[in-house]
Amino acid sequence: LRFEEATSFRGIALSLCEKEVKIFGKNFYLQPLDQLALLQKKLEESFGKKGLELLYESTKQGFFETSKGLEGLSEVKSEFLTELHNLVKHLGFGNVKIVEVNDKECKALVKVEENPFPEEYVDAFGIKKEPVDHLLAGIIAGYFCKYFERNVDCREVSCKVEGKQYCEFVVSPSS
Ligand SMILES: [Zn+2]
Repeated sequence: LRFEEATSFRGIALSLCEKEVKIFGKNFYLQPLDQLALLQKKLEESFGKKGLELLYESTKQGFFETSKGLEGLSEVKSEFLTELHNLVKHLGFGNVKIVEVNDKECKALVKVEENPFPEEYVDAFGIKKEPVDHLLAGIIAGYFCKYFERNVDCREVSCKVEGKQYCEFVVSPSS
């Protein structure tokens, strides 16, 4: 298998070959979503909310670092947001829509349609009354920390796992 896709960025955004998967020049380790759902379920069972926070915090930190590298690729801030959109799509999290960005208050509203993770989660463990996209919330938080140049957090306020039509995330300054 040899596949390379160029998107709106300068250079290759995604490349898959026999030995490795690279996105924006970084190596990625792809794993099936049901395994990710299982890992998350086990973290929650063993450590409760703390386990889910660890997942969120480590992803936030990682994607804050990643977005520092991506910032150099875009000349204007709106391009940087397009990169977020494309990266999330490439990572398989679905179709990200940045509904609102308030630069002054460092707040944002993000909607994600066709997100397969909550669907996979429901298939494995049934409907859940709380959002499950801690990884995606961490990615969005890490990105907006760089975008706003201050520490913000991302909270998922509505999730497909609850039977909603799409997942919705709110970004606001960290308390
Ligand atoms: Zn969700």
